[in-house]
Amino acid sequence: MKKLFIDVGGTYLRSEIYSDGVVLQEKIKTDSTGLMQYIDTIIMAHNDIEFIGISYAGQVDGGVIIAAPNIHIDEYEIMHRVKERYGVELKIDNDLNCAIFAEAEYWKSDNIALLFVGTGIGSAVIDNKKLVRGSRNISYEIGHIPYRKAPFFCGCGRNNCIELYSSGSAMAKWLNYYGSNKLSNLTELKNSQIKEERQVAENFEQGLLYAIGTLITISNPEIVVLGGGVIAQNSYLIDFIKENIKNYALGPSLESLRIEQSFLENASLEGAKLLGKIYE
Ligand SMILES: [Zn+2]
Repeated sequence: MKKLFIDVGGTYLRSEIYSDGVVLQEKIKTDSTGLMQYIDTIIMAHNDIEFIGISYAGQVDGGVIIAAPNIHIDEYEIMHRVKERYGVELKIDNDLNCAIFAEAEYWKSDNIALLFVGTGIGSAVIDNKKLVRGSRNISYEIGHIPYRKAPFFCGCGRNNCIELYSSGSAMAKWLNYYGSNKLSNLTELKNSQIKEERQVAENFEQGLLYAIGTLITISNPEIVVLGGGVIAQNSYLIDFIKENIKNYALGPSLESLRIEQSFLENASLEGAKLLGKIYE
């Protein structure tokens, strides 16, 4: 039985096909294809796929994509369309929801919060073994809580989200705004000779502390796991957060809290592999 697992991020789409002990991996730019188009192509090439698990960097509920601030959507009714077209079972969930399933297994925790910073910034919470979903499966969208006004808009349509300060896409937007030709590398920006570039890095750090402090204060986890491309490339952030978080979160919620960096290479994709099991 062949299984297809896909992690659709804001920048990259990564997939793995499992077939008789062989794993085929692929990584392409997300903007080079729509998800439905990608699935069509894979199923044309592998006509015996029986299950598809998808981790998706957007809001998803009941097999339907609701919105995706950083991704072009070519099919909203993705689960129904794939079932109708190919008779293949498909499970799809938000990427942070998928990632936290994998992280909860890794850290063996029943009370865990996850915050990932990549193209966007997102979080998820498992409270007493249960993923907190909300009424439409869009709880803990921490990147879109109001923070400060920015001179440009977020993918969600507003201009005051944390995601406009503390994400990979935010750094790129601010550098573009200041006319800088630097790449959005946090460590390089921190050490820049140019004041505005240092300011982009400082705003990123402050927004990140605000987001993590808010997450800790409202969810009271025993462990917070930080991951995503921007965290992985700037591992100084873990110590930086441990040193400064006391000014951003409620004291008692910090007392026995562990703050850890994700060790999984792709937690969202690992979580997509758990979708079939968890939903059954
Ligand atoms: Zn937003």
